[in-house]
Amino acid sequence: MQQFPCPYCGLRNETEFHFAAESGKTRPDTNTPIDDKHWSDYLYQNYNPKGTSKEVWMHLACREVFLMTRDTVNMDVLEVQALRGEHHD
Ligand SMILES: [Zn+2]
Repeated sequence: MQQFPCPYCGLRNETEFHFAAESGKTRPDTNTPIDDKHWSDYLYQNYNPKGTSKEVWMHLACREVFLMTRDTVNMDVLEVQALRGEHHD
């Protein structure tokens, strides 16, 4: 089983993590009408790059989200980055 590094908790089993989104996707403005295709594309169409991918993940144990850069070919985690400045228990 692979382990992922949570920026707050350290190395944990991959089953404790949930993929949230590819980094860089912009949520459509929902204050104006949006057609189903546009919304569906936002939700389900991913770049799914071969190689380096920057993604938003959640560690389910601490409920924190963070950026994880990983190599989709060899599954190596290249970097994790907290999305807020400080952590308090
Ligand atoms: Zn954590």
